[in-house]
Amino acid sequence: MSQNELFRGQPFARIQFVVQAYLRSPSCPPNYSPLHQMLRWIDVLKFAVNGNPEPDRKVAKTEEEWQALLTEEQFRVTRLRGTERPFSSEMCELFEPGKYKCICCGTQLFDSGEKFDSGTGWPSFTQPIKENAVAYHKDESNGRSRIETVCNTCRAHLGHVFPDGPEPSKLRFCINAVALEKVESTEAKITFGGGCFWCTEAIFQRIKGVISVQSGYSGGDVVNPTYREVCSGRTGHAEVIEVTYDPDAVTYEDIIRVHLGTHDPTTLNRQGGDQGTQYRSVIFYRNDEEKQTALDLTKEYEAALGQPIVTQITPFVAFFPAEAEHQNYFNDNADQNSYCGVVIEPKLAKFRAAFPQFLSE
Ligand SMILES: [Zn+2]
Repeated sequence: MSQNELFRGQPFARIQFVVQAYLRSPSCPPNYSPLHQMLRWIDVLKFAVNGNPEPDRKVAKTEEEWQALLTEEQFRVTRLRGTERPFSSEMCELFEPGKYKCICCGTQLFDSGEKFDSGTGWPSFTQPIKENAVAYHKDESNGRSRIETVCNTCRAHLGHVFPDGPEPSKLRFCINAVALEKVESTEAKITFGGGCFWCTEAIFQRIKGVISVQSGYSGGDVVNPTYREVCSGRTGHAEVIEVTYDPDAVTYEDIIRVHLGTHDPTTLNRQGGDQGTQYRSVIFYRNDEEKQTALDLTKEYEAALGQPIVTQITPFVAFFPAEAEHQNYFNDNADQNSYCGVVIEPKLAKFRAAFPQFLSE
């Protein structure tokens, strides 16, 4: 029986017992913390039972103050725990890039990247934007055991979360559209691997228009893998970086060009001395346009190199950030680890020589 089936429709006394038992069991990792990881049903239950993470800030207003700020329907849903009519908002059909803010306090709650079509008539997401953006409470109203979701900053009622969403988190945040406001985002994300992420991260941190780079794992079948698990080669994940960039300053095509030009896309499951499927050359695309650009560019490089390119071009499913000690690795460890001088420095020099037009330094 899966974890999700185990909890479906169970009374909270039983859920509480199972959560406590899980936290004490050998299958619960030591120092268990869902921070920086994909939130799963067990994490949601843990928050609902044991308390929620602290928000970055708190917003408190009187009922009269909220009433003055909100429309009647917004007030009814967010402050009086109401539910809007299903299919009452066009937001269900909206999948363009952007962020979803709390209508009451403006805190960002969800990203369009985690939005999916649940067919329920309410906007649905598989993850919150940050672990401490949303809070979870037991809700036993209407004779049902459910988990209510509220804005962790201002306590606005948002909706509920259920364990029947899509893989890999299997969560479905079922949110009232009136509780949200969509804001356009000029940021885009791209996920790819070209061997050791310490190296690729160092390169892409030095490109104009790149907002941030995160090292992590993609393309495997284990949720929240550890570095050790990925290095075993048994999870199917590749070491990757997720680059957040401003498409007005640097294009998807530019980033793929630098990617293909700064690692060896002709060696299968190997970059220099690093060998294994976790070091494979791979590009994860998020739409058909990205797929086509990646295919066109690999063909162009193949012709220029006169050698077959083995880079995998595959749909993006999920990105799992690596442990904190693997983030910003070159910048933090250039003096201590000889790998940085021997392997990463020459790669950076090659990048600077080949792509001076993209340098932010
Ligand atoms: Zn709020």
